[in-house]
Amino acid sequence: MTIFYRRLPQFDYLRPQTIEAALLALSDAEPVRNQVFSGGTDLIPKLKSRAIKAPPQVIDLKGIPGLDYIEFAADRGLRIGANAIIREVARSEDVSAHYTALAEGASLIASNQLQHRGTIVGNVCNAVPSADSAPPLLAHDAEVAIVGRGGERRVAIADFFITAGVSCLKAGEIVREIVVPPPAHGERSLYLKLAARGRMDLAVVGVAAAVVVADGMFRQVRIGLGSAAPIPIRATQAERHLIGKAATAENIGAAAALAAADTRTRSSHRASADYRREMIEVLVRRALGQLAGVDVGVEAQLQ
Ligand SMILES: Cc1cc2nc3c(=O)[nH]c(=O)nc-3n(C[C@H](O)[C@H](O)[C@H](O)COP(=O)(O)OP(=O)(O)OC[C@H]3O[C@@H](n4cnc5c(N)ncnc54)[C@H](O)[C@@H]3O)c2cc1C
Repeated sequence: MTIFYRRLPQFDYLRPQTIEAALLALSDAEPVRNQVFSGGTDLIPKLKSRAIKAPPQVIDLKGIPGLDYIEFAADRGLRIGANAIIREVARSEDVSAHYTALAEGASLIASNQLQHRGTIVGNVCNAVPSADSAPPLLAHDAEVAIVGRGGERRVAIADFFITAGVSCLKAGEIVREIVVPPPAHGERSLYLKLAARGRMDLAVVGVAAAVVVADGMFRQVRIGLGSAAPIPIRATQAERHLIGKAATAENIGAAAALAAADTRTRSSHRASADYRREMIEVLVRRALGQLAGVDVGVEAQLQ
């Protein structure tokens, strides 16, 4: 049972004005994920409940001006700064128009209050399998721009997650932004979330897809899955199966079955492993059918 304390444990609170100052303040002895925060919607409850040990210092990135950008350029794609709040990403016209799955994923995170405080970068850095921004970012083939004292490196979002709650961030590193490449010509995307309650509930499963269908054939297929494994994953077998194939209910059904077979679902109080796997097949089928304009008979499948 989790015990909630009213008071935060003792730590030094730092609010640097620049990323460089934040990097200098980072202690190599403590995991980054417990040391820095932006919205604090994940970190502060964990500190209060003593789910994690309080580090000697906690660094608030929200004091760094100019890090809350959401910038889109047709030739360079999208950049989301570390302090950009979820609500702004969900409401951005550029994100909705060019990265629909991400806008939909962001809009389904928690509540309006949390969306006004929490950030997309925090959602990614939390590195939980149910993060609603993760499947869309996988489907959009995003990269994470990481800064350390030695410079900057870029990591494909598929390689960012190591295991549940653990990212590839090393000691002394901070995520500066998320970069999403320009969408391909004719690309369409969406995100489907299955949760027991409409709002304020984590995904039982989440499925994002970004596809290009031309002349009735799948030219590009990327599928991101949430709560399908200890980390958010791509359904690579399903993607490979569909490329160059006709957009038919039969091909989509076979790809959905491959996506479900690719998972390592687990049972929890939210759902059993078998139910999650089955729902992934249903949601992948539904997502691909919707994007390709093909009737895949998912309603019958659900009964
Ligand atoms: C009641 C409730 C309901 C929720 N519902 C959902 C939901 O439906 N879907 C969902 O996906 N999430 C949900 N969440 C989780 C949470 O709201 C999100 O994960 C949020 O996006 C986190 O953003 P933040 O800026 O508040 O992160 P923070 O709490 O500031 O940070 C989260 C983690 O990331 C690290 N971090 C943050 N920024 C950086 C950075 N720039 N570089 C390196 N590390 C960094 C922190 O150290 C911390 O470990 C819910 C949370 C609560 C409390």
